[in-house]
Amino acid sequence: MHRFDLKGKVALVTGGNGGIGAGIARGLLECGATVVIAGRNAEKNTSAVAELGKIGPPVSALVLEVTDEAQCRAAVQEVVRRHGRLDILVNNAGGGISKPPHELSVQEWQRVMDVNLTSAFMLSQIAYPELRKAGGGKIINIGSVASYMGGPQWTAYGPAKAGIVQLSKNCAAAWAQDNIQVNTIWPGLIDTALTKQTRANKELMARVMPRIAAGRVGTPDDLAGVAAFLASRASDYVTGADITVDGGLLWGT
Ligand code: NDP
Repeated sequence: MHRFDLKGKVALVTGGNGGIGAGIARGLLECGATVVIAGRNAEKNTSAVAELGKIGPPVSALVLEVTDEAQCRAAVQEVVRRHGRLDILVNNAGGGISKPPHELSVQEWQRVMDVNLTSAFMLSQIAYPELRKAGGGKIINIGSVASYMGGPQWTAYGPAKAGIVQLSKNCAAAWAQDNIQVNTIWPGLIDTALTKQTRANKELMARVMPRIAAGRVGTPDDLAGVAAFLASRASDYVTGADITVDGGLLWGT
């Protein structure tokens, strides 16, 4: 069996109906995994399934609000009902509220924490017994260059994305003996709906672009290979790691 082969593996990708999540779902499908994507918007789910379905292996969707614990529990149960197992969990759903600290309300802070960080904790905890039953598994959490860098508008988003790094490491430590690897991907600036405003801001882009060594904004497809690697047995000795996919943004000048 090829070391990147995911045939027989079942993955749940939150936020898999668009942007980076769809890129990751594509990478897993191309390596043979069965994939269930999960997002709030049923129409987006349906069109993503139609598009991703062209790749080959089974792909389906479920409606999920990741901040709702009961829905997270039901989602994991539904994946197991459909496919008999769960091997790979990708905690990708996320997004921010761009405001400086003096403008962000406590409710907005909480919402950003819930969507980006608490959801990943809940789903990882709920998935854990299923991953164990499968003989081990992979959890891929989506951080950000905002896990490390600061920004005036990342008041809650930055702490949530920094928190996900430590969540990954602590789950990795707790579950290593169960053959479960937990890693974080840090995307840079990727062309998705989330960054539409940022990319339209000429003044901001004039400052950001020279820092990206690759000289271009990333695409969701740029995440596909790294995710497939972290989902496969090729990465069985990689755990608690942070992998940056940013064209050099983090270290660029
Ligand atoms: P998009 O806005 O393009 O996609 C977000 C996805 O998450 C959608 O599929 C959306 O589906 C889903 N989603 C959002 N909120 C919820 C929720 N509460 N419950 C369930 N699903 C939800 O964003 P990106 O693809 O750009 O971002 C994906 C991840 O990558 C996020 O965690 C983001 O923080 C991170 N990231 C992105 C970067 C970028 O440059 N794009 C850079 C660094 C990190 P639906 O609307 O149907 O719910």
